[in-house]
Amino acid sequence: MDDAARARQRVFTGNFTQQAPLPEAALAAAAQVLSTGRLHRYNLLPGEIGPVAALEAAYRDWQGSAYCLAVTSGGQALQIALRAVGVKPGDAVLTNAFTLAPVPGAIAALGARPVLVEIDQNLRLDLQDLAAKIQTSRARVLLVSHMRGHLCDMERLMQICDAAGITVIEDCAHTMGASWNGRKSGNFGAVGCFSTQTYKHINSGEGGLLTTDDAEIAARATILSGSYMLYPRHGAGPDEAAYERARYEMPNLSARMDALRAALLVPQLQALDHSIDAWNARYAACATALRACNGLHLPDRPAQERMVGSSIQFRAPGRDAAGCRALIAGAAARGVELKWFGAAQPAGFTSAHTSWRYVDPQVLPQTDRILATLFDMRLPLSFSVEDCAFIGELIAETCRDTA
Ligand SMILES: *Cc1c(COP(=O)(O)O)cnc(C)c1O
Repeated sequence: MDDAARARQRVFTGNFTQQAPLPEAALAAAAQVLSTGRLHRYNLLPGEIGPVAALEAAYRDWQGSAYCLAVTSGGQALQIALRAVGVKPGDAVLTNAFTLAPVPGAIAALGARPVLVEIDQNLRLDLQDLAAKIQTSRARVLLVSHMRGHLCDMERLMQICDAAGITVIEDCAHTMGASWNGRKSGNFGAVGCFSTQTYKHINSGEGGLLTTDDAEIAARATILSGSYMLYPRHGAGPDEAAYERARYEMPNLSARMDALRAALLVPQLQALDHSIDAWNARYAACATALRACNGLHLPDRPAQERMVGSSIQFRAPGRDAAGCRALIAGAAARGVELKWFGAAQPAGFTSAHTSWRYVDPQVLPQTDRILATLFDMRLPLSFSVEDCAFIGELIAETCRDTA
């Protein structure tokens, strides 16, 4: 590029990891908790409900589940869910070959064995491969990860799993607030697991929520989270009778959410529907601009899906590794940070299954082919809709320049 061309090049100057500030109400609630010093969830005055129990009740109602438990992270919610449904060391557990490391990590942490299922070109679980691996693995549990918010045909998924007696746990880290045919993500399987880590849909730094309609699972999960015998103080737990066995049989994993984080989350939950509309407007603006370049393919968004566009993915199927690197470099020169799942080495939050050396190596040609040209970008609410359109234009421009 000569100097004149460089001077003409348009550049985005926003920060891809800067989240929107928390609402005033969250700051006020946090200050209130700090002023009392009662940060532990069970440190309550007589008759006091406390922010954690309040969050659990509010999330249960918002989600439309029977029970809700707040924990320290999304990954802990997954681990607790796996134990609560009865996964034991050595068991095979089915999960997506394309997901974030805490998902196979939760399975491995139990001493269980992840059996990775292929994804399709829309980044959803490949239901044909799932059916095949149910047969060959003899797994009893599927931990389905709605990675980057792409829901597979949830009715079909549940038919397959119900017919085979497979218990489903949903990893909804990227689908808090999303739904399939009007039913909220997390309400299809036996357990839904959510994250409130900074880059997800409500932000407490770290944190997780677990929902279920099953009283036994809720009781086991609560004891596992480290409730001691204080479970009657929970905001959205089952009746005490459900704890009869769990209170003796479940180990205490010390994964309780604290009052400060819960206080931050309640006002954000109240604003979540508004945030979802804001994300989807940003996604639409960026997607429209990306579609201007023929070399880029965006995943389909089925009509049954109510999506949450907090991030955007696209493939560049015509490109080899050098072509992908050229796209990343060209976008970076324009101020746009792309994540690439085809890199040989894991970087930042991004890793492919071949980097999970604690998992038995598995042959996943379809997933590997998709990941080889898959790009990913967050769309934080600190960006405007115009920013997102501009970012999309810059990527499309780079795509044409490096074709
Ligand atoms: C973030 C994330 C998790 C786990 O959440 P943490 O709260 O960070 O432990 C699980 N699955 C996916 C797909 C995620 O992105």
